[in-house]
Amino acid sequence: MDRCERTGRTPVMKCSVCRGPAGIRAPRHNAAFCDLHFREHFLRQVQRAIESRDMFREGDSILLGVSGGKDSMVAWEILTGMGLEVQALHLNHGFGPYSERSEEVVRAHAARAARPLEVRSFRGLMGVTFEQALRVSARPACSLCGTVKRYWMNRTALELGCTVAATGHNLDDEASALLGNVLHWQTGYLRSRLPALPEGEGMVRKVKPLFRVTDEETRLYAGLAGLEFVEDACPYAENVTTHYYKGLLERMEREFPNIKGAFYLGFLDRLLPGLSAEFRRAEHEMRRCPECGYRTLREGRCTVCTLKERAAGSPGKPDRAPPA
Ligand code: SF4
Ligand SMILES: [Zn+2]
Ligand SMILES: [Zn+2]
Repeated sequence: MDRCERTGRTPVMKCSVCRGPAGIRAPRHNAAFCDLHFREHFLRQVQRAIESRDMFREGDSILLGVSGGKDSMVAWEILTGMGLEVQALHLNHGFGPYSERSEEVVRAHAARAARPLEVRSFRGLMGVTFEQALRVSARPACSLCGTVKRYWMNRTALELGCTVAATGHNLDDEASALLGNVLHWQTGYLRSRLPALPEGEGMVRKVKPLFRVTDEETRLYAGLAGLEFVEDACPYAENVTTHYYKGLLERMEREFPNIKGAFYLGFLDRLLPGLSAEFRRAEHEMRRCPECGYRTLREGRCTVCTLKERAAGSPGKPDRAPPA
């Protein structure tokens, strides 16, 4: 914390709510909090995110993707704490010790808190390993991973009778992805930046209840709530451009508090209404995969069915280990 120039002493921060000693500075809200009021503030932000986008309705059953990282563990805790019906799904990608540890953390939490959990493996769902799929897909690892995760989230939600698929994407995730989309003018991806996507034929509603809270705030909340989570990054994460954009935005945030919020939430408030017609047109052009019924822009089979077919027919080279 900074020292006062006049007295040379470290000023004691006061909680913006109770005026007691505050250990948590929140420059983007122009506030400081004690532990108790930080937790309340965080929960209010999540509640506001849920209500502002009408994420959940009476009778909803939620399938939450849980990776074992801080975001999904916090989302798990909060949504369940709100009395919502939450079923968790963990997808083990087979990334060696990282995946083993992630599954262990998720299973331990489910057992401790008596929460329903489904665990599936990439190989079990796709019939091939992630490395094999990567070889035939000609896509970057994260693009392949994201496509497969979205597909199986939707399909598992339908199988289990869930009406909503929720993920732990936070403000940093969405702002950095939006920055990447805008820098490359990937306008076709902008719809995926929405914190709530309505249900459609063969598709459940998709929501991101943590879209108003940052990486750092979520980490703090997880610590205060005593949640165990996996700190290690996925072995493929280092090559991700989005991580570069995240770092860039974080450096800007230190200079200009709330620049991330202004960027992403500003996009939702100001740019989005003008894009609705384009989103509707894109929706109209969607077809159904003749194999599995998933919605796709492709003619013929969807990306995942095509990938499964290609991977099954490709000669089985031995797998490389994921990057260390
Ligand atoms: S870093 Fe990329 S490959 Fe790893 S879990 Fe995330 S999206 Fe998947
Ligand atoms: Zn307080
Ligand atoms: Zn398909």
